[in-house]
Order: sequence, then C-alpha cells, then structure tokens
Amino acid sequence: MSKNSKKLRIVLLGAPSSGKGTQAELLSQKLGLKHLASGDVFRQEVKKKSELGKAIEDYLKKGKLVPDELVNKVIISKIRKTKKGIILDGYPRDLTQAKFLEKNFPTDLVLEIKISNKEALKRITGRRVCSYCGAVYHLKYKPPKKKGICDICGHKLVQRDDDRRGIAEKRLKLYHQTIKPIIKFYKRKDKLFIINGEQSIKKVFQDILKIVLRKKDEKK
Ligand code: AMP
Repeated sequence: MSKNSKKLRIVLLGAPSSGKGTQAELLSQKLGLKHLASGDVFRQEVKKKSELGKAIEDYLKKGKLVPDELVNKVIISKIRKTKKGIILDGYPRDLTQAKFLEKNFPTDLVLEIKISNKEALKRITGRRVCSYCGAVYHLKYKPPKKKGICDICGHKLVQRDDDRRGIAEKRLKLYHQTIKPIIKFYKRKDKLFIINGEQSIKKVFQDILKIVLRKKDEKK
C-alpha cells in the first residue's frame, strides 16, 4: 500500500442497492483502504444485542434513519481509530452528518453511484444475504450455486427485513429526500463526481478507479 493511499478519504453515495457496498469492497482491496459501512456497523450492534444495538434496532427494522447524534458519535469514533485511508459507505446520510464529517474529517472525494428507482427496487427486493457471514447475493443477478445457501460458508440465505418491498420503497423515498442537500453541499465544495451505476460491476469500478487514481496523483 502506498503512503498516499493511506490518506485518501472517500465517500460513496448511492441509493440502497446502487452497488455502493460492492464497489467500496473492490476499491478497498485495490488500494488498501478501510471500508466502513454504517449499515453493517449498526446491524452488527443489533446482532450483538449491545446497548447501542437495542437503542437502534427499531430504526433499522423500519428503515428509518438512526438519530444523527448517535450516528456521528459511533462513526467518527471508528474513523478516528483507523490509521489507513477510508471509504465511507452509508455515511453521511443527511446534511447534518455531512457537515459534521467535513468539520472533523474532511473528505477528498465524493462519488455518487446513480441508478433509477425502478432498477433499485428490482435489485433490493431480489437481494439475499447470508445469515452467518453477511455475503450478499441476488436471486437473479448473482444467485448462489445452491438455492438459498451461502457459497462461502454454507449457511442459510435470508432477506433483510428492510429489503421487503414496502420498506424498500420507503427507504428509497427517504434516500432521495435526504441526499439532495448533501449533493448540493459537496458540489459547492467541488468534491462531487457522478457515476452511472447501471453498467456492469466491472465498468462501474473502472469509472470509479479513474477518478480516485487521479485524485491520488494530485495528492502526491
Ligand atoms: P444500509 O445498510 O446503509 O442501507 O443501512 C441500513 C439501516 O441502518 C438504515 O436503514 C438506517 O436505519 C441505518 N443507518 C445506516 N447508516 C445510517 C446513517 N448514516 N444515518 C442514519 N441511519 C443509518
């Protein structure tokens, strides 16, 4: 890992199922950056039944946003502990969080992966996750080798509660409402880049990598 990639701080924005998580993972492997997915952090807390988990469980179940104070505290403490560069996935989710992040840990780049609502719903409702290791599949686009079973660890695949249609629609609506001011905020800071998310995973990654590597060069 180069010294420079350690310093990169990237935000990935995109509606649920836009491919943020997949792209963040690819980028993290390629450049040795830490992938911090706020949704994963919160789901783990719920699974552990920690104090935080109990406090946020209901928000997650209903697809509602966890209160900003709580989110900022948890995520910023994770960022602080990270010595590597970082890719933020799922955070910031509203303007308060974006302002908080920029004040404490200014980002280098903000990438918005864009997909239509129709495509998002198709992807969300077909998504299945491993109940044990969290690996993500799709009934049509990325089916497991054996129906309903994780290729990696052999445990059962399940549908996340918030991936069910009604809640998925609510989450999409909420995303569009809260993302507008964030986009405006980052556009004004000249940090925003838009990526077409309705391409193959490989092509989306190539588009992202081009922008990230350019930024990395500028920082040298
Ligand atoms: P995700 O996996 O990113 O779709 O997140 C799943 C759920 O975690 C969301 O529906 C929210 O309840 C919660 N969550 C994740 N990130 C945030 C955030 N930055 N702010 C508030 N709530 C969040």
